[in-house]
Amino acid sequence: MAIHYHCRHCGTKLGTITNTSIHSEALGLHKLTEQERQEMVSYDLSGDIHITAICEDCQESLERNPDYHQYDYLIH
Ligand SMILES: [Zn+2]
Repeated sequence: MAIHYHCRHCGTKLGTITNTSIHSEALGLHKLTEQERQEMVSYDLSGDIHITAICEDCQESLERNPDYHQYDYLIH
């Protein structure tokens, strides 16, 4: 099992975790609401987990342009 992180805004691949001992609770997934989990977490046919996150570049630009963040969120 591997866990893949992608940026939700620019699509950049942020990284992959292949440690099979990682439990979803260790990632903090259990803290998400059901809706957040559906939006951010998906499983592919091989059992890998894909997590939609945000990269540092986008995080920075969003902090500078909070309105853009709101807009981006609404079109999902
Ligand atoms: Zn990004």
